[in-house]
Amino acid sequence: MFSKILIANRGEIALRVLRACQELGIKTVAVHSTADSKAMHVRLADESVCIGPPASCDSYLNMAAILSAATITGAEAIHPGYGFLSENAEFAKSVEEHGMVFIGPTPQHIRMMGDKITAKATMKNFGVPLVPGSDGKLESLEEAYEVAKTIGYPVLIKAVAGGGGRGMKVARTAKELSEAWEMARTEARSAFNNDSVYIEKYMDRPRHIELQILGDNYGNVVHFGERDCSLQRRHQKLLEEAGSPVITEEQRHTIGKIATDALARMGYRNAGTLEFLYQDGQFCFIEMNTRLQVEHPVTEMICNIDLVHEQIRLAAGEKLGYTQKDITFSGHAIECRINAEDPITFVPSPGKVTIYHPPGGIGVRIDSALYSGYQVPPFYDSMVAKLIVHAPTRAQAIERMRRALNEFVVGGIKTVIPLHQHILEDSAFQKGDYSIHWLEQFTTRTHTS
Ligand code: ADP
Repeated sequence: MFSKILIANRGEIALRVLRACQELGIKTVAVHSTADSKAMHVRLADESVCIGPPASCDSYLNMAAILSAATITGAEAIHPGYGFLSENAEFAKSVEEHGMVFIGPTPQHIRMMGDKITAKATMKNFGVPLVPGSDGKLESLEEAYEVAKTIGYPVLIKAVAGGGGRGMKVARTAKELSEAWEMARTEARSAFNNDSVYIEKYMDRPRHIELQILGDNYGNVVHFGERDCSLQRRHQKLLEEAGSPVITEEQRHTIGKIATDALARMGYRNAGTLEFLYQDGQFCFIEMNTRLQVEHPVTEMICNIDLVHEQIRLAAGEKLGYTQKDITFSGHAIECRINAEDPITFVPSPGKVTIYHPPGGIGVRIDSALYSGYQVPPFYDSMVAKLIVHAPTRAQAIERMRRALNEFVVGGIKTVIPLHQHILEDSAFQKGDYSIHWLEQFTTRTHTS
């Protein structure tokens, strides 16, 4: 086992990893920008190193500064958290070249899954079902017309290098296709410096269902069931649940077997998530994330497992030590992402937190780096807390989340807590009757009513 780990991240996820390290008796090194010198992850770590000015590109994305911090403090491994360098194959490779362990998959697997066409082709090869679409990138608008005719309208043009929902355009008719083609390519060119695009069937009411998996360095792969992340705004998740209200035990078992078999054949190691769109009983793979996800706590609650402990243990070369049949599911968990944003306009709301009173009681978990007097900086992601509840049934989890949100006080800045309260009162949400397009319509409706 490692004796010292550097955590290459900030905010709640840096704290999350730090807590796991402390429980495993591992010393921690925090890194921070000048804007984060008073951050909680810096206060709680055994050591800390300032790695640059506020802008992420000069600090949390600065590979040389992070590698130097790890070298001078004698860290044996680096945990990247999510975002920043977590899916950067070059960083993972550099960590290894500096004689340290990257807590995550191999650089090859990170690279392979980072390219959406390669990811889809690889999964198809291993028998994982895909969204119908082009086999690879489209060479011309004529080819786009051909594919669209075969799969049927509406279709979605997507950027090969896509991320964060950019470079995606819907075309409902052949007439709309040429415009969508131009717009998607222009957006992809400016966002990713790469205008390659591909085409997929546009699904009109799918759910976003994803599968948490873990693999060791010896070819053993297991899954921890699904998360339903259908509540999204601008393709950003806002509320997640485990399990999904619409997935049966049999479906979980079937898709779980397909996914774990595929990843075992790839020799995938450490944590990963396969994302699917699910509609009319069919799972269609869209992408794989080769890291820990923001929403991992809902899985931890229903599986009674610490996924970060597991990541560290596996990166240190330990075996999984259990098989699929040892993994059981208990109750239902919901996570609300608390963003420092106006709940109606979604404009970011950084500033000083004057009062901070988190909820408590049975079945309530808070992952947050906030404290009273903390100044939320304007430079980073607006998510400042995750409120997670666990209860025997979904109905009880909803009740528990409602009372926890009522207790939650964050003064001085605006948050999306009122929006979550609104969602939880909606009968369609309570019935579990929603698709990935539901929240967008819900916020437009509540905004205009
Ligand atoms: P990104 O990497 O930009 O996040 P993804 O492929 O993961 O792109 O898709 C992000 C989101 O966009 C999905 O969660 C879903 O809400 C929507 N989406 C993606 N593909 C489709 C599709 N074929 N039909 C309908 N919605 C889609």
